[in-house]
Amino acid sequence: MPTNAELIAVAERHLYPNYRQGPFVLARGKGSELWDVEGKRYLDLSAGVAVCSLGHAHPRYVQAMAEQLGTLSHVSNWFYNARNIEAARKLTALAGMDRALFCNSGCEANEAMLKLTRKHFHLQGQTERLRIIAFEQAFHGRTLGALSMTGTPAYREGYGELGRVTHVPYGDLAAVRAAMGPDVAGIVVEPVMGEGGVLPAPAGFLQGLRELCDESGALLMFDEVQTGIGRLGSWFAFQKAGVRPDVVALAKGLGGGFPVGAMLTHEKLARALPPGSHGSTFGGNPLGAAAILAVLEIMESEGLVEAARRKGELLAEGLRKVVKEFGSICESVRGDGLLLGLVLRPEFSLREMLGRAHAMGYLIIGAGDRVLRYAPPLVITEDQIQEGIEATRRLMRAA
Ligand SMILES: *Cc1c(COP(=O)(O)O)cnc(C)c1O
Repeated sequence: MPTNAELIAVAERHLYPNYRQGPFVLARGKGSELWDVEGKRYLDLSAGVAVCSLGHAHPRYVQAMAEQLGTLSHVSNWFYNARNIEAARKLTALAGMDRALFCNSGCEANEAMLKLTRKHFHLQGQTERLRIIAFEQAFHGRTLGALSMTGTPAYREGYGELGRVTHVPYGDLAAVRAAMGPDVAGIVVEPVMGEGGVLPAPAGFLQGLRELCDESGALLMFDEVQTGIGRLGSWFAFQKAGVRPDVVALAKGLGGGFPVGAMLTHEKLARALPPGSHGSTFGGNPLGAAAILAVLEIMESEGLVEAARRKGELLAEGLRKVVKEFGSICESVRGDGLLLGLVLRPEFSLREMLGRAHAMGYLIIGAGDRVLRYAPPLVITEDQIQEGIEATRRLMRAA
């Protein structure tokens, strides 16, 4: 196997340089551990970005995927396929919703929500009801439609005019109320703001959005791309919050590492995207559907949703002790379940801190401009959680 440096030299010539990566190249994973091409071990405290809930190379997942690959991997959406139908039944049952539309990523799931919301009103003759309310610093993806809802100015800059979206401060119900109007088709919200800084919705906020939507008839869209599929210790964040959204976007944890996304909705919105109005070549393919089924079945049989809650408490408790010890460097722990953020004081550089963690063999990622984000595989062991807490302590000491 070539060395890290040899591969990175090739990457620097041939990969499109739109990411900041390095200085090592990952080659292999097992459970919550990864190894680079030179055999150095890393503890995975981010699961990709909250993607690999089953960890890496889970034997039952590998077997299900290999079997599906040897049976049927693609047929297009000209035809039904059995796995896709099973995945829709299973996923809608867990969510208590009726319909699933499959795609391949989070931004596509959000595109589908956005298109459904606009088309729903268009079909009722409300053709000017196009505006969406979204939140400052919210992240909904990078395609132009999803980007119109994404709230971070740096991600939006330079792409010209985006869709009709009003961004208001997250958690500020009065600001949402003030931004409402007869042209608002929907509100899109992350139940815990992920990329923006692992910021949970304040108490009553999601309920308040539901009420504002009920008053105006606008649709409530939950972007659960990061929070869905067990990460917060419930299958979906909306269940934990006790709020019923009209439409939900899923991706990250849904496929266990295979790229899939889904939009879920209730029967009353089943006619909003009639045949011909939206689609995807790869969405709902048998291999992706098998990934979803494997993830859901393994999570059920291994009790991983409950584990996310229990392990999340353990990790949060450990991180809170670190905050107590190193209050001059970090100020708080926030988040929910196994989606947690350690908030650094503004004078410390997030990028430097992450670089140091990676060099030490700990894959922590950032969120916002000063949050260390922990979103480990849900299969992480309690020993590995303790190791991650201890590593964080060393990281603070080094700072
Ligand atoms: C990651 C993320 C997305 C975008 O998903 P992609 O698969 O990268 O397109 C959208 N919304 C939220 C909340 C996310 O965390």
